[in-house]
Order: sequence, then structure tokens, then C-alpha cells
Amino acid sequence: MNDTTTPGADFIRDIIAQDLAERLNGGRLHTRFPPEPNGYLHIGHAKSICLNFGVAAEHPGGLCNLRFDDTNPEKEDVEYVDSIQEDVRWLGFDWEERIYYASDYFPSLCRFAEALILAGKAYVCDLSAAEMRDYRGTLTEPGRESPYRERTVEENLDLFRRMRAGEFPDGSRVLRARIDMASPNMNMRDPALYRIRRVTHHRTGDDWVIYPTYDFAHGLSDALEGITHSLCTLEFEDHRPLYDWFLDNLEVPARPRQIEFSRLSLEYTVMSKRKLNALVRAGVVRGWDDPRMPTISGLRRRGFTPESIRQFCRLIGISKSPNRVEYALLENCLRTDLDARAPRAMAVLNPLRVVIVNFPEDRVEELTAPAHPQNEAMGTRRLFFTREILIEQEDFRESASKEYKRLVLGGEVRLRNGYVIRCLEAVKSDAGEVIALRCEYDPATLNVNPVGRKVRGVIHWVSASRCVVGEVRLYAPLFHVPEPDALKGEIAEQVNPDSMTVLADCHLEPGLADPRRDFAYQFERLGYFFRDPDSTPEHPVFNRAVSLRDTWAKIEKQQAGAG
Ligand code: ATP
Ligand code: MG
Repeated sequence: MNDTTTPGADFIRDIIAQDLAERLNGGRLHTRFPPEPNGYLHIGHAKSICLNFGVAAEHPGGLCNLRFDDTNPEKEDVEYVDSIQEDVRWLGFDWEERIYYASDYFPSLCRFAEALILAGKAYVCDLSAAEMRDYRGTLTEPGRESPYRERTVEENLDLFRRMRAGEFPDGSRVLRARIDMASPNMNMRDPALYRIRRVTHHRTGDDWVIYPTYDFAHGLSDALEGITHSLCTLEFEDHRPLYDWFLDNLEVPARPRQIEFSRLSLEYTVMSKRKLNALVRAGVVRGWDDPRMPTISGLRRRGFTPESIRQFCRLIGISKSPNRVEYALLENCLRTDLDARAPRAMAVLNPLRVVIVNFPEDRVEELTAPAHPQNEAMGTRRLFFTREILIEQEDFRESASKEYKRLVLGGEVRLRNGYVIRCLEAVKSDAGEVIALRCEYDPATLNVNPVGRKVRGVIHWVSASRCVVGEVRLYAPLFHVPEPDALKGEIAEQVNPDSMTVLADCHLEPGLADPRRDFAYQFERLGYFFRDPDSTPEHPVFNRAVSLRDTWAKIEKQQAGAG
């Protein structure tokens, strides 16, 4: 991986370095990334991936597993298992042969459950879900002990085995840890370990009618894998005493140390898989990989590079304080990455026809332009100058102040990579709209400045006859507000209706039709664009990944004005 910056230090890396220096775990470092396959990965997961795989790679012999925490068959699917692997790989990380599934540990977890029963530390409880909630107490009041808490070991073992054998209906009984109903930590109030659920699992099929809870499976899966450092987000801080209780009360092969860090949240978007799923289901986005989504697959489709996402994760760092990060930071990481390596091209999004009156009708002049202004090694590209060319509608005004550095009636402007032209006449429709321009070009000005004349600026263009017509999709924030999580009501109804603009009549430099060239381009003056999978050689489709300048400052200003 050719990342330019070295990893920054953070409190987790400090703890790990210290543990390794003290030769804890025999000097081993083993982490894991543990997604639940109930949705596609998002940029928040990237933070966790970069940390877990990153820190393992920074130490000789360090390892990081990919483990699916697939304990909840109702919400999980192989589609997600596949997409998660694709996304982690695309981000540039490698679990080698170490791909694991919590479902592979179901037999071991069942043995752990029986061991707790035999030690008098777990019991089968017949309270209904509502009764359990009631018995659990509140943050200010202790819970009450279940009337089934004093069942004998024999009875518990018998009932648990019959639960597993499918003798009881769904939800009729649960296996619970026997800890402390008066604990100030709600997670310690005899939490559920196993539930009865007749649901087909995407890996184990109908082998099981009981499933372990996430809390029971997660920490013990880490222990079974020999994980030394379980890095997770802050909401699991209160679960740590429970995970430690399992480690203390069972014979486990390893004792992972859990360290929590704050979740990433990003302005103008939502991150919870439940909410992202709701957007997909409601059809307000085109899928999990819609370029507006904060998912890895959405960012990839939009044109983000793995390098830019890794750099973003490096910049935001790891800490315990909650961080809502500006979207502009993510975009800036992409701009910096692409500025250095994206080939340049020209495209006209809203065309205005220009007739070069002193250029012969049947002539095609071939021009050469650098693929990248600073990097000669990237070579050159061919452009065609013809009698009819296209420019952006917004690059012409009949008259304008000196601030307007584009074409005006009677004024001169340089065509990027080409000649200087002068506007002689604006051709109008009956309604008075400018529909074409008549201009003349100065043959002496190909990439050289005319002596003693003032050229206002440089605009981009394409030949009207030597171009490809295609579609360009422009994106704005998915939500209008920086904190959409705070919005009330259906999340799908709050999506910014202008978050995608489709421009169907765009005219592109001919080279852009070649679908083999699937990297991001800088369309000069317009931003960075990436070919969409909807593209065909006859009809290219490009997404704008990011504009050339930070447009967020403008959005913030509008927000302030509106409020
Ligand atoms: P979500 O609420 O988005 O569904 P989750 O935490 O339930 O997220 P998991 O699949 O359980 O999703 O997450 C896998 C790993 O990624 C966990 O270790 C989790 O802590 C981490 N993770 C998830 N979201 C974020 C985030 N926004 N920032 C940092 N790490 C995250
Ligand atoms: Mg989860």
C-alpha cells in the first residue's frame, strides 16, 4: 500500500505498543473486524477497518481477521456477506485465509452455555418478553429476580437441551446468565444468552432453533479466535463487564482486551444500517451503491478511491470523543488524491452552439493536449477543432462586468487547449433566447497569447461533430441538514429531492467513450467524474464525484441564511 503519510499515534496504538513491549499475550497482536452481515458497509465501518487491519499491519507478525457476527438470521443475508468482502478488499486490506463466522462457533457456544449451567451460573427462564422487561428494573431502580432463577442444575440442563431439540415454541423460554439483578449496569441483570427462534440461517440452514445473543457470541468468538485486542465503538463500553464476566467464568483459550473508541458520524448523511436500509427499501435511492449513499459501494461508484478513504480515516484519527466530521473533509481527501493523478478531459454539460465563421465547413483540425498539466509521463490526448463547437451556456453573456472572465459579445476568450475566439454575434430564437453564437478564431493563437490584446479568460469546449453524447449525474447532499439523525418521522421522506441532477444532453471529448479507461477524470473546470456502471460505449454515463472547489462553504452559508 503506497500511503504517503505514516499512521498517526492515538491512544489505542499507544496501549497496544505498551502491551507488546510488556510481552502480553506472548508478544502477539491479533485484531479482527467483526461486521454483522445485515447491510452494506459504510464510511464508519471504514474507520474501524483501517484501525483493525492498519494496526495489525504496523507490527511485525500482527494479524487481523475478518469475522462475520452472524447471530441474527432474521436480518442477515449472503448478499451482505459478499458485499462486505468485496468492500474490505477494495479498501486495500487482506485477511488472507482468516475469514470466520460466529455461526461456525455455535457448537462451542452451546458448550459454553452448558458449562455455565453446570456451574449454576445460567438458568432457563419462562418469563414472557414483557415480564422480563418489567422484572429488569430501570436505571434508577434495581430489577427483581425471576421466579425461575432457583431452578436446579439438572432441570436447567434438561430444559436447555430440550430448547435446542425444538420441543418448545419460539419465545417461550430463554437461557439467561445468573449474575446480579441489582447491578447498576443493566447489562449485568441476568442477560439472555440463548433464544428460541425458528428462522433459517444463511449458513447453518435449519440446524438450529436456538440462537445465541450478540452479547454472548461476540466476546467469546473473540476469545475462540485468540484475539488479543478487541477494538470496538463506545456503545459497547457498558457491555465490557459482561464480556469480562464470560471470560472469568468460562475456560477460554485467550483473554481479549476490549478498547472502545468513538463512532464516526458524517454531516448531511445517516450511517445506521437500519436507516440506510430504509432508504433502499423506499426506493428514494437507487440501491445500496447509489452514489449519494455513505456506503463504501456508493462512494466507489461515485468515484472515490481507496486511497482517499484511507487518508480520510487517518485524518479523523481515533479518540473517545464523539466526532461529527464535515463532509468537506472527505471530499478534500479525494480532490487531493485525484488532482495528482486524474487525466484531464473536456465535457460540456449544458451546450451552446458556436459557429466559427472563418473556419472551413469540411475541415477537421487535430489538436494535442496534455493528459495532465503537471505530469508529462501521462502522455497526450487528441482533440478536434471544427467549424461548429459547443461551449457551456453559462460561459457566454451578451454583456458583463470585468469580473466575468468568459465570453461576451465583441469580446475574446481562449478555448482551453486551442485558439482564441471573438464573439461577433448572438443568434436568438423568436423568444429572444440565445441559441447560437457566431465567432471568429485567430489562427495565430494556438496555445500562444496574442501580442497586445486582452483575452478575458479560458473556457472549455468540445467539437460539435467530433464528440460523444452522454449523461452526467451531479450530486448534492443526501439531506438538507447537517444532523439528519435528529429529524423526526420517516427518514426516507426527508431525503433532499435535489440530491441528484441528471443531465442527459452532455457532450464529451471522444476519448471518454472508451469504457476500458475506467478511472476518474478531471473534466476541466467542472470537477472529478467517474464512469457509472450504467455506461455503454454508445452512451457514456459519468458521475461527478466531487467538484473542483469546496462547495460546502456555500451550502453552510445558505443554511445560515435560511435559519
Ligand atoms: P450500524 O449501526 O451502522 O448498523 P453496527 O455497529 O451495528 O453499525 P456492525 O456490523 O456491528 O455495525 O459493525 C462492525 C464494526 O464496525 C463494529 O466493530 C463497529 O463498532 C464498527 N462500526 C460501525 N459503525 C461505525 C462507525 N460509524 N464508526 C466507527 N466504527 C463503526
Ligand atoms: Mg450491529
